[in-house]
Amino acid sequence: MATKLILAKTPAEAVDAKTSSAAFIAGGTEVNRLGSDIAGEADVLISLKKCGALKSIERDAGYVTVGSMCTFQQIVESEWIPAYLKEAALFMASRTKRNMATIAGNIAANRSDSYLIPALTVAGAVIELCRKSGETVRVGIQEYLENKESYGNDLIVSVTVPEDIRLVSKRYANTAQSHAVLTMSAALTEEGIYMAGGVKNVGQLHFCDLEKAFNEDPDISEEAIIKMVRDCTGLHTEDDMFGSDAYKRYLIAVTAFDLHRKLKGKEV
Ligand SMILES: Cc1cc2nc3c(=O)[nH]c(=O)nc-3n(C[C@H](O)[C@H](O)[C@H](O)COP(=O)(O)OP(=O)(O)OC[C@H]3O[C@@H](n4cnc5c(N)ncnc54)[C@H](O)[C@@H]3O)c2cc1C
Repeated sequence: MATKLILAKTPAEAVDAKTSSAAFIAGGTEVNRLGSDIAGEADVLISLKKCGALKSIERDAGYVTVGSMCTFQQIVESEWIPAYLKEAALFMASRTKRNMATIAGNIAANRSDSYLIPALTVAGAVIELCRKSGETVRVGIQEYLENKESYGNDLIVSVTVPEDIRLVSKRYANTAQSHAVLTMSAALTEEGIYMAGGVKNVGQLHFCDLEKAFNEDPDISEEAIIKMVRDCTGLHTEDDMFGSDAYKRYLIAVTAFDLHRKLKGKEV
């Protein structure tokens, strides 16, 4: 259990204090959540609240750079943040929580029901990290999440996203405040369709087979997509309180089909 709290005043100070038995605390909504083991497992908590440098939002050459300590509410209210990211931030229905929770906290928590990760993934978000060595590195969000252990002591400084990208998202939960069984996003770029999503208790997934199917045949039928996802052996969904394996597969398939239609400007 954490017995020491460090109030870092700069990103360098925060990263300097970070060890494998310490944890950063940003908004604290995940760290202090009942049932979360982050605070229980850490000896030291490093608060980022006083790192003013991490709270800015900047816009340059078609990209927006969001400081890691920007809250969900700042994202919703900023005139510079693209609509697709505001939509994802509003998946967090509680304004009280939006006033505390930060973009970096959501990424680093890497929950299977993350509000932001699917949209940030298909947008090709780039994360700037401050390392213990003082070095600053920029990595794609997918690279960061897939190799999180090797970035464990690094501080997320900012997240950069494109302003103009056609991107749509969908979240399914019993109520706006409930955990989502599926949060999925799709983006259309010159290279084709990108699809990613979080499936509760499974993880954050990149739907490469679906991308390939839509890119190869933009007129593929909904039935073909449903069959493809139903028969996919690489997808490890199970029956649980959020629904049966069959239900989750069906939901992924019909959502992928709907998002693809929306991106193509067709009604759903
Ligand atoms: C009732 C309740 C329901 C919730 N439901 C959801 C949900 O459905 N989906 C969801 O995604 N989340 C949910 N959360 C968790 C949480 O609200 C969000 O994930 C939030 O975005 C976390 O942001 P934070 O700033 O509060 O992070 P914190 O709690 O401060 O930190 C979370 C993690 O991120 C790390 N971290 C924070 N900042 C940085 C940084 N700059 N660099 C590196 N690591 C960093 C921390 O060390 C910690 O491991 C829920 C929380 C509560 C209390």
